Amino acid sequence: MAKKGLLEKIVSTSGDEFYTPMPPGYKIGKTKYIVVTGSVISGIGKGTINSSVCKMLQDRGLKVEPIKLEAYLNVDSGTLNPFRHGEVFVLDDGLETDLDLGTYERMLDKNLCSDNFVTSGRIYKTLIENERAGKYLGRDVQFIPHVTGEIKKVLRNLAVKTKADVIVIEIGGTVGDFENMFAIEAMREMLHEEGKENVCITNITYILQPKSLGEQKTKAAQLGIRKLLELGLSPNIIICRSENPLNEKSREKISLNSNVPLERVFGVHNVSNIYSLPLSLREKGMDEKILEVLELNKKFKTNGNKELEEWSKKTSCDSKSTVTIGIAGKYTGSSDTYISILKALEHCSFALNKCVEIKWIETTEIEKGKVKIEEAMKGIQGVIVPGGFGSRGVEGKIEVSKYCREKNIPYLGLCLGFQIALIDIARNVSGLKEANSTEFEPKAKQAVIDILPEQKKIEGLGGNMRLGGKDVEVKEGTIAFKLHGNKRQIRRRFRHRFECNPEYIETFEKAGIVFSGKAPKHPIMQILEMPKQKFFMASQFHPEFTSRPLNPDPLFLEFVKKSSEK
Ligand code: GLN
Repeated sequence: MAKKGLLEKIVSTSGDEFYTPMPPGYKIGKTKYIVVTGSVISGIGKGTINSSVCKMLQDRGLKVEPIKLEAYLNVDSGTLNPFRHGEVFVLDDGLETDLDLGTYERMLDKNLCSDNFVTSGRIYKTLIENERAGKYLGRDVQFIPHVTGEIKKVLRNLAVKTKADVIVIEIGGTVGDFENMFAIEAMREMLHEEGKENVCITNITYILQPKSLGEQKTKAAQLGIRKLLELGLSPNIIICRSENPLNEKSREKISLNSNVPLERVFGVHNVSNIYSLPLSLREKGMDEKILEVLELNKKFKTNGNKELEEWSKKTSCDSKSTVTIGIAGKYTGSSDTYISILKALEHCSFALNKCVEIKWIETTEIEKGKVKIEEAMKGIQGVIVPGGFGSRGVEGKIEVSKYCREKNIPYLGLCLGFQIALIDIARNVSGLKEANSTEFEPKAKQAVIDILPEQKKIEGLGGNMRLGGKDVEVKEGTIAFKLHGNKRQIRRRFRHRFECNPEYIETFEKAGIVFSGKAPKHPIMQILEMPKQKFFMASQFHPEFTSRPLNPDPLFLEFVKKSSEK
């Protein structure tokens, strides 16, 4: 246990060397911490492994709360390019985060909030605001203790607020990065203040296997772990990512070089189905070992519920039966850009026991006339036009919408895809030849998509978006109403600036569109359907953000179902 004297000392904020604010009601040892660091390389599925660890512990009966400490200086992820960083995920309270939060929400089947995601930028912003407000009482503000203190405060606040049994802290980046150095230092302080039975240090490392050698090499991993030791964190658990199953020799070497007992070194090699990961980690005994470190194994005796087994069984599809879905996106270079959409499709594949095959439709090529639409659509049974910003590829997407409508191919529009469908219909059904969105043509004569009146007042990037979970009123008697279980109100996540211009609502209705969802009390259209088509629906919100493995989003589900029908 942390010593009493020390605890008293660190509570003090009287301008001495200890700046460790303890929120009211905080009790050391009540909530325990699992710190997850990465070494050698990034991009090895740290988020996926972490969320699997959370899932495994959740299944065992623990109340688990994840938090990601992101290293970059952006205050949130909203201004990041999804081509470079992957999808921007939106939480219910409106925070724009990186895609790992989506992985956590789906795995744990739970909504997270701003408390579960913190960037270095946000930490600095708080500190600078505090400093300007004179809150440090004449003290010079330093990395230690102030920056590290702020991080510890965020963690302890989360503990008090959620009363979690464990908080799983994912440190973004890898050990040795300049950016996350102070976060790792904060973890060292946490370990010291909370006591070693309350903090479990974990490292996810990578075992190389160069093609020319054909065997596993552990040196890079050893050096990565050594770096962690240098920074004062001695790992309790090591997870070795590798292409092939970790061999005993590699495991022994890692154990020897890192002071971690052999039974606490685990291998996780490439698997085709990530949903099997929590169960396979449990079979390897990882939950036992983590609880042992945290002295929680007496409190949580059960060996996990049957739910995890059920869950693993239900999260697969019959590979003999497939449906081919086209995604008409812009960032087709990386699948991380559209990760939640791919996951939402996967959730449908579990429910329908039919695997989904993805074909990317590069709309810039269609737009430039390099690829004919018939060519691009070959073999595709249904099309998704996903969210997006800026004009590149837009004309190609409008052509895709027109093609789907005319050939009666299922179409699902998401956010931008909703606006695209409206532009197509305005131009090609209602005869408004110059119809466009003011996002692409600021002086559009027939601005069927325009900026939200309430957003017009707010200027500047990264602050004028309609964000987060909002209620949507569903119209009785529509397809949307039936699909959403006859619910009059649903809650979905938004991230947009533009909307259907209310002046054109009647024009659209005459063209055969039914607006089956809208904002309560406002003429903001949010779901559209064309009942005469096999499936033609779109939403101004992002249903992909709230789809869950065993609870697929109804719009997605019906879309995939209809796409697979002959
Ligand atoms: N660019 C469009 C808007 O701002 C759509 C946004 C999106 O697809 N997320 O309204």
